[in-house]
Amino acid sequence: MMTAPAAPSAGFDTATLSDMLRVAGSPGFDRWKEQIHRTGGCSHPIHLQGWILTRDKATGETLHRYSTDTEPGARLRIACGNRRASRCPACAWTYAGDTYHLIRAGLAGDSARDIPAAVREHPRVFLTLTAPSFGPVHNRPGTRPCRCGARHAEDDTALGTPLDPDSYDYAAAVLFNNHAGQLWQRFTNRLRREIAATAGLSQRELKAVARISYGKVAEFQKRGAVHFHAVVRIDGPDGPDSPPPSWATTERLTDAIRTAATHAYTTVTVPAVGHQPLRRLRWGTQLDIRPVKAFGDGSDITEQAVASYIAKYATKAAETTGSLDRRIGNREALVLLGVPDHTRRLVEACFDLDPLYPDRRLLAWAHMLGFRGHFSTKSRQYSTTLSELRQTRADYRAAQERTARGLDDVEPDTVLVLTSWTYAGHGHSPGEAALAASIARDIQLNRETAREALRDQLALEGAPA
Ligand SMILES: [Zn+2]
Ligand SMILES: [Zn+2]
Repeated sequence: MMTAPAAPSAGFDTATLSDMLRVAGSPGFDRWKEQIHRTGGCSHPIHLQGWILTRDKATGETLHRYSTDTEPGARLRIACGNRRASRCPACAWTYAGDTYHLIRAGLAGDSARDIPAAVREHPRVFLTLTAPSFGPVHNRPGTRPCRCGARHAEDDTALGTPLDPDSYDYAAAVLFNNHAGQLWQRFTNRLRREIAATAGLSQRELKAVARISYGKVAEFQKRGAVHFHAVVRIDGPDGPDSPPPSWATTERLTDAIRTAATHAYTTVTVPAVGHQPLRRLRWGTQLDIRPVKAFGDGSDITEQAVASYIAKYATKAAETTGSLDRRIGNREALVLLGVPDHTRRLVEACFDLDPLYPDRRLLAWAHMLGFRGHFSTKSRQYSTTLSELRQTRADYRAAQERTARGLDDVEPDTVLVLTSWTYAGHGHSPGEAALAASIARDIQLNRETAREALRDQLALEGAPA
């Protein structure tokens, strides 16, 4: 007898429905569900075939044998791990969750990862650094009416696009994206100097008493320009464990950020080549700095809000501007794929500038509108790392596996583990895809419930006695 996993709802075509029933009715269905559950409901899992043999080193006795021969379709499915929501919502969700924990740990501490809750008393702010103007664009509703005379609706695709595309500086726009990482670097260097200066210290003396750490994410604005959101914090000399010096206040940090962001040093010079003029790239004038409070009294941004906000943007790449989520081969592809006009011009600017600035790799990063940095980065001292979080999860799963196989008591160095794996394909059939999506939704719902419980717990901890 077959058991349908959930009442198939409207929206599936007949082929998908019948494939869902086929999958649900197949003998390996429960194990398939388990595999997909472990991938977090990945929409493009990688299929592996192979085996693991665990032997006792001393006696040569086989303690355990695992082979994909007994798995559904003789395959083990593992998560694709793609960070982009447009490619795999489930894996992007996992990544967003990790980023959330990473940023949150740096704001509120995390006892499991040796980040003390005392970081809450360290001066910290939530900072947004934007790109400068490359020409007037159609602006948002809510402010004054757009210069074009129209009142644009919230979802108007014209928003963020130039009033006059022919005079918009597309070259500067993609060169800015391309150098944004270096500009951030210059900014953080300058920030350390500014903070040292306000305390009357040399940079070396500053290191002996305080550290500046940050966690940041990049986001594309509607106009296709990269900007950064970051948490910046002052710690003591040994990082989050040590108290910052008494002179380190949120006000001083705010002032130092404002000075550093606009300082002449915080500039990247792009040399003149061919018909391209010399350019000095700097941050835009829109600079937003907000103190982060542990618990909101309505006036400041809270830790939870910052962590959620940053996590939300960690999974969005250039595709939010209508660009593509993978590399672009040529100009014809842009037309064929129906890339919007403004975005197409940005991509083409990358193509045009590539021969002039070969070391900037603009062609390779054209699909990112020139941006070549990482979407989320942090300084060493800020908090835990994404790879640590992944390792924790992998360790947890390995422990689960060992328990399930009765290997709990086996000392790792007394056994010999032999493995052999080969790639056997990827993805889902239409029915599998629909079922995987429903598994992903269940997992997401459970995690949201857990997150809400955590929020409630934090609110209780912070309540006045
Ligand atoms: Zn995936
Ligand atoms: Zn307009």
